Formats: sequence, C-alpha cells, structure tokens
Amino acid sequence: MFGRFRRHLAWKLFLSYLIVILVGVIVLASSAELAIPRSFNHHMAAMASMMGDIMGTEGLGSDLFSNFRAAVSEALLLGALTSLLSAIIVSFLISRRVVAPVREMMAASSRIADGHYRERVSLSGALEPHEMDELENLAVRFNQMAEKLEKTETMRRQLIGDIAHELRTPLTTIKGSMEGLMDGVLNKDVQTFQQVYQEADRLQRLVNDLQELSMVEAGAYELKPIPTPVAELIGTTKARLGQQFEEKGVVLEIELPGDLPSVMVDADRISQVLMNLVGNALQYTPRGGTVQIEAQRLENEILISIRDTGIGIPPEHLPHIFTRFYRVDRSRSRAGGGSGIGLTIAKHLVEAHGGRLWAESSGAGRGSTFTFTIQAT
Ligand code: ADP
Repeated sequence: MFGRFRRHLAWKLFLSYLIVILVGVIVLASSAELAIPRSFNHHMAAMASMMGDIMGTEGLGSDLFSNFRAAVSEALLLGALTSLLSAIIVSFLISRRVVAPVREMMAASSRIADGHYRERVSLSGALEPHEMDELENLAVRFNQMAEKLEKTETMRRQLIGDIAHELRTPLTTIKGSMEGLMDGVLNKDVQTFQQVYQEADRLQRLVNDLQELSMVEAGAYELKPIPTPVAELIGTTKARLGQQFEEKGVVLEIELPGDLPSVMVDADRISQVLMNLVGNALQYTPRGGTVQIEAQRLENEILISIRDTGIGIPPEHLPHIFTRFYRVDRSRSRAGGGSGIGLTIAKHLVEAHGGRLWAESSGAGRGSTFTFTIQAT
C-alpha cells in the first residue's frame, strides 16, 4: 500500500489532497467545539431580557444548550461527511487528470526507447507557448525531441544506404575487372590495370571524405585560428591548383582589393574550403572557360566568391547541393570522381568559423558562383 503511494504521482497528489481535507475538518471541528459554547452563552445573555423568567427556570438553560449543541453537531457532521465525500471524489479525479499527461509521456518515451520513433504525445488544443502550463510545455518539448530523434534515425539509415550505394559501384567494377583478368576475357594491359587503379583510388577518396565528414559533423576537431592575410589563403590555393588549370585550359583570375585585412581563421581548414570550391569550379568548367576568385570587405565581414563560366546549376538543384552525396548529375559527376561530400564538409567548416556559404547560378550552362563569409578582425 505504502509502495503504491511512493511509486505513483497520482496517489501522492491524492494523498496530499486528503491531508489538506483532513486538516480542514479538524480545524472546523475544533473551532466549532471552542466557539459554540461561548457564542451560545453570549446570545443567550442578550436574549435573557426578552425571555424573562423562562431562562430563570431551573435547568432550562442547560437543556437548551445541550439540545442546541446536539443539533449543531448533527448538522456539522452531515455537512462534513458530504463535503468530505465530494472532496475525495473531486481530488481523485483532479489527481488523475493532472498526472494523465505525465503517464502518456512515460508510455510514449518507453515506446520510443523500443525504436518506435514516430511516437508523439497528444497536445490539448492550439495553445500559444505563453498560454501553456508547465506540463503542456513539457509535452511540446517532448514532441520536438521525438521529432529530432526520428529525423536523426532517418538520416542514419539513409547514410548507411548511401554509403553502401557509393561503395558498390567501384567495388563492382574492380571485381568485374579482376574476374575478366582471371578468366582471360580482359587483356593484362596498362589500360585494364589503370581502370582498376582508378576505381581503387575512388574508393580511397570516398573513405577519406567519409572520415572527414564524420569528423566535421561530430565537431570532433579543434580549430586553431591564427591571424591570416586573405591574399595568402587565396595565393596558396592558386599555387596548389594553378597547374591543373593550365592543363585543362581554364583561366584562373584573382581580383583582390589592396587593403584586405587579415582574418582570424584556421588557415588549413579555410584553405580546404577554398580548394574544394575552386576545385569544383575547375571540374565543372569546360576548356576555354574562366574561374574568378574575388574578395571584398562588407562591413565587418570578408566575402570570398568563386565565380565560374561553367555548366551552372539548374535552380531546382540549388537548394540541395550542400546535402551530403547530392550530385546534380550522378553519372557525370561519377565520371569526374565526385562523391557529393565536398560541399557538405565545406559548409560545416565555414559555419564552424561563424560564417555562411551559399551558391548562386542562373541555370544550366550559365556558370555558378559560390560565396562564403569570414568575420573580419
Ligand atoms: P562532388 O565531389 O560531387 O563535386 P560536392 O559536394 O563538391 O561533390 O558538389 C556537389 C554537387 O554540386 C556536384 O556533384 C555538382 O553537381 C554540383 N556543383 C558543385 N560545384 C559546382 C560548380 N562550380 N558548377 C556546377 N555544379 C557544381
């Protein structure tokens, strides 16, 4: 019995209501006990002059008092019993009602723990947050938490599916080539070995990208910001990619105002972002095209833009290109070796520096511009 009270909030609430009712009854009874004789004598004294001799009659006063007292006690007892009974019923119903949402959340959370991520608790009406009591607020937060869990779980499943899909293609090619070599269907020439090598290389890049992605998504890296001139960051990118631009026949132009300040960034990480954006611009710009890197100061931000005259991005794809594994043209990008992870990583790294990264394009064949911001010091 005692355990039941300890374990159940509704019973605890009910018990506390009962205690309050009991105290009320005791106070009522004892005050009646004390107040009635005094009040009776007081009123009798006032009536004595009116009643004349009647009160003087031997024993009549005390009889009257005891009868009156019995009548009051009866009325009090009846009243107390009726109110006690109704108070018990009402407090029992209130306790159950107050505790009902808590019980519902308890049941929902244990179903979520069992893997039913769609579980939600019911909300009473369309209340504004400031009109809600603590329990209603708790229920709203509970549903938000459940929604986040469901999203994370969906993303986790999708990620596993995506990774399996990404790994399957190069593995199938490698396996096919090896079987062809073993069966003597394929020639043991440089071309065949190169094909196998390229697929193995793609696998290695994918694994490296995935490792990098999981690290940035988990925030499992430390930024080491140091004052770095913007021109130096862009210069490093040009030095690293210049040769590839020349080989492909794409012009790389850099336009920097002379008074660009230094920025407090982790130079390696921001170089990684630049390498990804400029590398993409090169990859998606055909021979004869141009890639421009521009930087300018706007209030307390530095804007760095990478503009290309390449294949552009159709508007319906623009909102998705920062989503991991998203590629506008799967087959085309696969030929170029892209896994669709680079922009996701770049966005994370820019945001970790407190900046923003976005893309603009007037559509297919009309070039693209990627811009990111860094806080100026
Ligand atoms: P990938 O390794 O496939 O290039 P990213 O995450 O870097 O992956 O890019 C995602 C997709 O965005 C690319 O597959 C491509 O379709 C599109 N994209 C990125 N940069 C450009 C660009 N400069 N011009 C046209 N499309 C681009």
